[in-house]
Amino acid sequence: MIRRGWATDLVELFLPTGCVACGGWIPSREAPAIVCVLCRTRLHDPGWPRCPRCHHPRGTGRIEEPDCLECRAWPAELTGARYAYGLIPPADDLVHALKYEGWREVSEFMGVAMARAVVASPRVALDPVAGRAPTVVPIPTTLHRIRSRGYNQAHLLADTLARTLGLTLRDALTRPTAPRSQTSLSPTERRENVRGAFQVTPGGAPWVRGAPILLVDDVLTTGATAAEAAVTLSGAGAGPITLVTFARALPQQSKKAA
Ligand SMILES: [Zn+2]
Ligand SMILES: [Zn+2]
Repeated sequence: MIRRGWATDLVELFLPTGCVACGGWIPSREAPAIVCVLCRTRLHDPGWPRCPRCHHPRGTGRIEEPDCLECRAWPAELTGARYAYGLIPPADDLVHALKYEGWREVSEFMGVAMARAVVASPRVALDPVAGRAPTVVPIPTTLHRIRSRGYNQAHLLADTLARTLGLTLRDALTRPTAPRSQTSLSPTERRENVRGAFQVTPGGAPWVRGAPILLVDDVLTTGATAAEAAVTLSGAGAGPITLVTFARALPQQSKKAA
């Protein structure tokens, strides 16, 4: 057996375990972590006070302001939003690794952070409605993207979130159409681009009807995609719908991974 020491360090040097966010070396004693300690401490919690509905941070001077500019245009069906971190490094690097670099393993770290964000905020999102616990529903991506990527990143995050919170995950939505990428569109164009994009699956319908929903995605940008998904779920009889994402794009922040 090799004792911890120069020999182990030498092995790690030639077989490095890189942090998925910064690429930095992770010592084997921290394994199986795939996000280094430095990156974990750099993850940015936007702080309080926040809009009670969408949790966008607001200036202390606006605490009594009832009308939040960020969620004012959301349909009533999208009841609220929770997120773990602001979309700045290294959170955007983690999203990028999950979405574009095939690092599906990082979804476990991200999903646990999302569960913490849900539990830490006022627990409205977890309250049962008429005795029914929330159903966790990932926002689907298109079949084309699943084929090229091998997975739906929102499903992986939803899986960890549901397991951590002891809730049921249902792939209750499908996305048969292939809209343009939202990345370069204005808020109005985003809403138009996703209109009618989703359908409730026959198998998912009983899990949606009358149930509160935790709707899961990787990033919240304008909320246009989640709003359309919420309208579709509500049309199938869903109760209050809370969007839960790993990161949220905030003003002046990186849009790299959105
Ligand atoms: Zn790192
Ligand atoms: Zn708001």
